[in-house]
Amino acid sequence: MSHINTKCIQEGWNPKAGEPRVLPIYQSTTYKYEDAKTLGDLFDFNIGGHFYTRLSNPTLEAVEKKINALEGGVGAMLTSSGQGATTAAIMTVCHQGDHIVSSNSVYGGTFNLLNVTLCKLGIETSFVSPDATDDEISRLIKPNTKLLFGESLANPALTVFDIERWAKIAHKNSLPLFVDNTFPTPINCRPFEWGADIIVHSTSKYMDGHAVTLGGVIVDSGNFDWTKSPRHTDFCAPDDSYHGLVYPDKFGKAAFIFKARAQIMRDIGMQMSPMNGFLLNLGLETLHLRVPVHCQNAQKVAEYLQANDKISWVNYPGLKSNKYNDLAQKYMPCGTSGVISFGIKGGRAAAAKFMESTELAAAVVHVADARTSILHPASTTHRQMSDEQLVECGVTPDLIRMSVGIEYIDDIIADIDNALKKC
Ligand SMILES: *Cc1c(COP(=O)(O)O)cnc(C)c1O
Repeated sequence: MSHINTKCIQEGWNPKAGEPRVLPIYQSTTYKYEDAKTLGDLFDFNIGGHFYTRLSNPTLEAVEKKINALEGGVGAMLTSSGQGATTAAIMTVCHQGDHIVSSNSVYGGTFNLLNVTLCKLGIETSFVSPDATDDEISRLIKPNTKLLFGESLANPALTVFDIERWAKIAHKNSLPLFVDNTFPTPINCRPFEWGADIIVHSTSKYMDGHAVTLGGVIVDSGNFDWTKSPRHTDFCAPDDSYHGLVYPDKFGKAAFIFKARAQIMRDIGMQMSPMNGFLLNLGLETLHLRVPVHCQNAQKVAEYLQANDKISWVNYPGLKSNKYNDLAQKYMPCGTSGVISFGIKGGRAAAAKFMESTELAAAVVHVADARTSILHPASTTHRQMSDEQLVECGVTPDLIRMSVGIEYIDDIIADIDNALKKC
């Protein structure tokens, strides 16, 4: 089996003689067949093949195979955004009346999805600190709980999720563990090796890496045995909307990812466009080169900030003094990500001044692309909140979030240094 660096470049697209060397953009909604019987067999999953791009497409299939190989799963499905991936993954196992236990240290969009939007559909979530004890987490599990959820490296809190410990709690209770692995990417962390069952990503971040396409992906480890779980009998029941299809009977270990596609993608339709799949694939071809540079640069910026007397605190799991350094060493020994948060002495005003004063680092809402970017949430995304409300949600008024890019490190630090002199 080849090294992950080789997989980033080679996996997914294997052209035969005379076919394009580079993955083509199959910009077609539909596919031609000679007879009705073949189309019927395709619909019944008796043979493989594409028939409508809402279900599958050759460009997307190649990229799915690549990401699946990077994570080490049995199958993957691309979606139009990270939010689409999380929604589709949850809807594949949960319906009205079900329950989820989630880490409370998750991306804001995911928190809203779980706390508000899915709640309106009758799927409830109990939130708990990722650092809660086994007992505290287990106590939240109810008869209708269907999955546990967490982020391997949380955006923006940068907490490191103890995947192995959460997986043990999940499996002891016949539950699958879902992990959002967006920030470390499979280059730095492979959750399946620690017992996670389903992985989701926002490919809009490092996987694309150039801030050009929104996207998401679900990867199935194939390790969760749905047929043995007393909690997931409905998952294994005949699907009335697919003339009685029983997913584990038909697809074995890949039951989850086929159900996600055949039922949820078919009915809800959050597919990625072939063009975006092509662009994502270009990003993936250099993922193994970019991620280590993001991490090296971020480590240097974090150490520089820690030694600067205008800075009151620095949150980066790569720092020895960080609360999550031990967990980061275990799960992401080659580095965490390029994202750092820190506080500036002088509070809200000094932080706002800093954000206006950098030149190389642009103030944008996005993180995790090639360019260094910064954000002062208190004067932008969170500006409606008072200082007290900000502290309550963990975004202090002095907090700056920096996504360290892959420019030359001395230029990044010089830019920060110049901006700090103006604060
Ligand atoms: C950005 C992000 C998402 C949402 O992804 P979109 O592609 O913006 O929909 C989900 N999880 C994490 C950890 C993220 O950083």
